[in-house]
Amino acid sequence: MSGSKARLAAIERVTANVSPTAFFSVTDPPGELFGQNVFTKAVMQKRLPKAVYKSVIATIENSKPLDPAVADIVASAMKDWALEKGATHYAHVFYPLTGLTAEKHDSFFEPGDDGGSIAEFAGKTLIQGEPDASSFPNGGLRATFEARGYTGWDVTSPAYILENPNGNTLCIPTVFVSMTGEALDHKTPLLRSQQAMALQAERVLKLFGHADPAAVVSFAGAEQEYFLIDRAFVFSRPDLLNSGRTLFGAKPPKGQEFDDHYFGAIPDRVLAFMLDCERELFKLGIPAKTRHNEVAPGQFEIAPMFERSNVAADHQQLLMVTLKKVAHLHGMECLFHEKPFEGINGSGKHVNFSLGNSTEGNLLLPGDTPHDNAQFLVFCAAVIRAVHKFGGLLRASVASATNDHRLGANEAPPAIISIFLGDQLTDVFDQIAKGGATMSKEKGTIIIGADTLPVLPTDPGDRNRTSPFAFTGNRFEFRAPGSLQSIAGPMVTINTILAESLEHIATELETAVANDVDFDVAVQKVLEAIITDHGAVVFNGDGYSEEWQVEAAARGLPNLRTTLDALPELVSPEALELFSHFGVFTDREMHSRFEIAMEQYALSIGVEARSALEMATTVILPAALRYQTELATNIASLKALDLEVDTVDLDAVSALITDLRAAVAALRAALSHEGDDAVVAEATHARTELLPAMAAVRGPADALESLVADDLWPLPTYQEMLFIL
Ligand code: ADP
Ligand code: MG
Repeated sequence: MSGSKARLAAIERVTANVSPTAFFSVTDPPGELFGQNVFTKAVMQKRLPKAVYKSVIATIENSKPLDPAVADIVASAMKDWALEKGATHYAHVFYPLTGLTAEKHDSFFEPGDDGGSIAEFAGKTLIQGEPDASSFPNGGLRATFEARGYTGWDVTSPAYILENPNGNTLCIPTVFVSMTGEALDHKTPLLRSQQAMALQAERVLKLFGHADPAAVVSFAGAEQEYFLIDRAFVFSRPDLLNSGRTLFGAKPPKGQEFDDHYFGAIPDRVLAFMLDCERELFKLGIPAKTRHNEVAPGQFEIAPMFERSNVAADHQQLLMVTLKKVAHLHGMECLFHEKPFEGINGSGKHVNFSLGNSTEGNLLLPGDTPHDNAQFLVFCAAVIRAVHKFGGLLRASVASATNDHRLGANEAPPAIISIFLGDQLTDVFDQIAKGGATMSKEKGTIIIGADTLPVLPTDPGDRNRTSPFAFTGNRFEFRAPGSLQSIAGPMVTINTILAESLEHIATELETAVANDVDFDVAVQKVLEAIITDHGAVVFNGDGYSEEWQVEAAARGLPNLRTTLDALPELVSPEALELFSHFGVFTDREMHSRFEIAMEQYALSIGVEARSALEMATTVILPAALRYQTELATNIASLKALDLEVDTVDLDAVSALITDLRAAVAALRAALSHEGDDAVVAEATHARTELLPAMAAVRGPADALESLVADDLWPLPTYQEMLFIL
């Protein structure tokens, strides 16, 4: 079935689908379910010799190097556990720069001497794998003669069992590197950046009197927005199948203007899906906590509890895979695209982050005492300085063809990276800026560490949803990442720019202390300098307003509207220096990432353009021609009877058909352009030629949707996809 028949059949199927059912008949209470399929610390404690357990925990908790001698023992315990859980295979799971999750599966079983089979899983198999790397993007890092890539066990992210009705798989999170040790994935730099940030944070903590601070880590909690639509519609939408977003579709009579969806009652069918998802996530040790409707119709959000950023990044990937899988079982499609429907709010992934350690707790939590507040203010100032110095890099870390539809468009957040601090914290920093290092307590102005500093609230009360980078009481929320992207990239940037600021602060304070400057005075001076030099990035107003665009420009904040504007930030001299200084990326790695991002941009727009061309030619134009014929036949019959005729409908349809044909021809011409190997040229062509040509096709196509008889229209409409659940 195809064309309008398929659409009408889909509507029938969807409307008949009344009673939601749970697909996984799990009855265990959530408490017992949690981590059921995870090789947790508790499982390790039970199954590993004490010394081995201690050694592994030292690596996980305190970032101590992994002792290779323990690998064999861990591998054997892991294998036994996995076999008991019904696993037949194991897989090294890695995160290549496509943004997807990759797995290479191998069987545990090998032929034994007696003709039977034995289960084998040695330490070296746990530690290292060797998938063929040539089919993953490498941005010129690897010539084909050295196409080998290696996966390496990441002890700090727990292994888990992935269930399938036909057999289970032990999944081992790994890094993915080239033969020469260059990062080909998202995890490697995340681990490196985490280490760099920790080192500098610990230097600062020492200055605040913590002689031997416990290992500092960064935490991330990602709020994931997504759309759900009935799957029956997807098969009639080649655009959704190919590119994850609708390339055509007239505005529905009712969109989101009533704001009646946000936090509204969750439809039963969706709730059934969410419950199944959460159970599956719980089994995988992913602490799904919050769920609610989002702003747009058909849009929802799930937010797991925050975790160490490396684990959170892995879990985030697994969460997306799980949501898609469970949605299919419920006859729905889960859309992670940043802008699946034009004119309807898109989806983001808000990354909440903080840093801390086991003794100090959250370092972004304002304390109850002035001394704690001083430490908090220093870490907070480090963030302000980092975001101001490297706003362009943060913008680049969320740049993609798909996220361009969101950022800097008419919805949140703007492409200008600024910080929202809230009134009270802003006021504190204002006072610091006015204070001056020489001010004394007697004069009644604040000196950090002295008790005149106000007790800071942990919940500032006010929120600003238009800010891309907002302080929310005990953490910062980076609201610009796209719903589709891995949170690893943004976390790498945050960790690294924070390392740079903390290094600066630590050096300043250490020097002052060495020169017998009073510590409080030294802290005040550092804070004052930071807020004076970098306070321009603080903005508490409406980030969507026109005035902000103007003011931000006056403040010298970059406004990198599109991916093409943002990506060059990755290879600016400052960025190369930053990443190489902290051992996060070599220059070569950075250039490769730039190339890959450009290439992905061009590829993804290329796919859209070809889909649009095909749909316009083979789906939309034929429907319009059929309707044109119907109208023409009608007019001919009326004329034959000597009745009065009105050609207004026919004229309108005919005019749009003419426009559509012209636009299709132009899009075809733009697509026939001879590409070359220069990725930047290809990406530029995509932006300057393909995107406008697609928009020109969409105009008359969407206008036709509102004119052509409904029973002839082949594509499920926005109304149908968004409001039937
Ligand atoms: P919002 O009010 O922004 O919608 P949600 O409750 O939906 O908040 O999500 C907040 C996210 O922030 C959750 O993932 C939560 O675990 C995370 N979070 C809370 N505290 C911290 C913290 N200290 N560090 C990092 N993330 C945190
Ligand atoms: Mg939320």
